[in-house]
Amino acid sequence: MSTEPNCIFCKIVRGDIQAVEIARDAETLVFKDLNPKAPTHVLVIPTRHVTNLGDFATSATPHELGNLFALAAKYGREASPGGYRVVVNEGPDAGQTVFHLHLHVLAGRPMSWPPG
Ligand code: AMP
Ligand code: ZN
Repeated sequence: MSTEPNCIFCKIVRGDIQAVEIARDAETLVFKDLNPKAPTHVLVIPTRHVTNLGDFATSATPHELGNLFALAAKYGREASPGGYRVVVNEGPDAGQTVFHLHLHVLAGRPMSWPPG
């Protein structure tokens, strides 16, 4: 597994800083967002360091890519069978603040559209 020394999500993967972990396998980690924007707000990340969705999509195996989205769907549905939202911010214009790919899974409240 390749991690970056100064990346905050790599630190969570390595156990250098604490997070509330929901699930983990060799390729993927699911944990609670520290500053939740919905009653359920979890982040699904690859355990290897990759900056954003574009870089992941061009480097991941089909299994790795599928696993990430399957876990987002699993925890979204579990939290809210009536509906949930999966968000990926890529780049500063989209509001990305942590440059290790993460899928936000938001559930447990009505969601408005379009997003801000
Ligand atoms: P983004 O703006 O899409 O890059 O989202 C980054 C997310 O990471 C935000 O929702 C933060 O609340 C969350 N976050 C930042 N640091 C931590 C941490 N140490 N543990 C859990 N979530 C975090
Ligand atoms: Zn990282």
